[in-house]
Amino acid sequence: MIRKILQWIVFCVFLGTLVFFSIKQYRISHPEEVKATSEISNSQQDTTNSSCIEQSCGSCPSKENCTGKGSNASIPPSTGKEEFKAPSGDEFSEVSSTETEKKEEFKEGSNDEFQDASGSEFQEVSNDEFQEVSNDEFQNRADVTNAVPAKTEKVKIDWVKYYPTFIRFSILFMLLAIISIFYHTKWIHYFRYPILLGSLVYFGFILGGCPCILVMFNDMLLLFSGKLSLVVYPIILLIIIIMTILFGKIWCGWLCHFGALQEFLFRNPRMQLLRSKIAQKVLHIIQRATFIAFGIWILVAQINIVCTYDPFVKIFTLSASGWLAYLLVGILILSSVLIYRPFCRAICPVGMLLNLTTKLPFANKIVLDGCTECKKCHKYCKMGSIHDKKVDMACIACGECNQSKCEGIKLMS
Ligand code: SF4
Ligand code: SF4
Repeated sequence: MIRKILQWIVFCVFLGTLVFFSIKQYRISHPEEVKATSEISNSQQDTTNSSCIEQSCGSCPSKENCTGKGSNASIPPSTGKEEFKAPSGDEFSEVSSTETEKKEEFKEGSNDEFQDASGSEFQEVSNDEFQEVSNDEFQNRADVTNAVPAKTEKVKIDWVKYYPTFIRFSILFMLLAIISIFYHTKWIHYFRYPILLGSLVYFGFILGGCPCILVMFNDMLLLFSGKLSLVVYPIILLIIIIMTILFGKIWCGWLCHFGALQEFLFRNPRMQLLRSKIAQKVLHIIQRATFIAFGIWILVAQINIVCTYDPFVKIFTLSASGWLAYLLVGILILSSVLIYRPFCRAICPVGMLLNLTTKLPFANKIVLDGCTECKKCHKYCKMGSIHDKKVDMACIACGECNQSKCEGIKLMS
């Protein structure tokens, strides 16, 4: 009963969030209303000036590497010259505190001398007076915008560019709550494949894989290591984790576009590859090792490294180039055709985190109760999660095992 109330509360919260951000986004995309306040006007200028922001995934620090359509990949790398063309207080405020004197010098000149300066004029200026500054401070700033801000920088998040992301995730989380509310009904399970297909088409092929599951994990680690500007995706990941604890791993089984791609590629249900108990254990060990390796790599590199090698984004955007990209895409496609969700089971760090949540005593999950080991349900579980009268943590709450009509299977509460 408490869980049912919670499910409806969550649904209403995300409905409210959807309405709130939809209204904000509507106002931004309608100039006559945007002019009503100067604050919104500033945001609107940002939005219309960069095509990426209209469907931004936002926080990718490695924008140059990311080929996602929803990423900031379309923004050309900034140069010192461009920034002098349209200087603003904000830009200067992002310069580190150790260079305050230089900043003040430019602030004084920003209103008159540089605002109207043409490219040629500017080149002249940059050759003498400002060459030193542009070489170190402003050229480096191009790197800074692509890299993760240092701890000492003032954290400034442009929330406006995340409104489309908030709208999309509000819809996803509402859907998650609805699936959870009606999980025990038969009819909702007919919609699992259509929902997965919708997620694959929209988040995969239309938005180019953004938001990327791996970037969520990447940003979360970078946030822990002090990159406070990367807060949006970790918040979304935290919501996914909380909703998984409350409502089960519906995210993985029903909504994730990475999972959906593997689900639709899978063509080998009869061979039941890697479904044995030993195989399941080996996959768990590989996933833990990958989780640790990814974690160390990200924390040492301190940048977004996953997008560079992410074969999902390459498939979604049809943008693979170079032998390594083709190799990873080939491995992903071939393994997904032969094995059910190989990435989810052996690699995905988010899946690993969600797996761990099922260990919590109050976590919602599929359980077997009064199992007689008739094993009728085994053949329905493509994840190979049912062994020894138990459902292991890799279970994605797909609900397929319920087709066995075994009364021992207890779907989530
Ligand atoms: S394990 Fe990872 S990739 Fe697979 S469905 Fe879950 S979040 Fe998506
Ligand atoms: S145990 Fe049932 S719900 Fe879990 S993955 Fe297997 S078939 Fe799906």
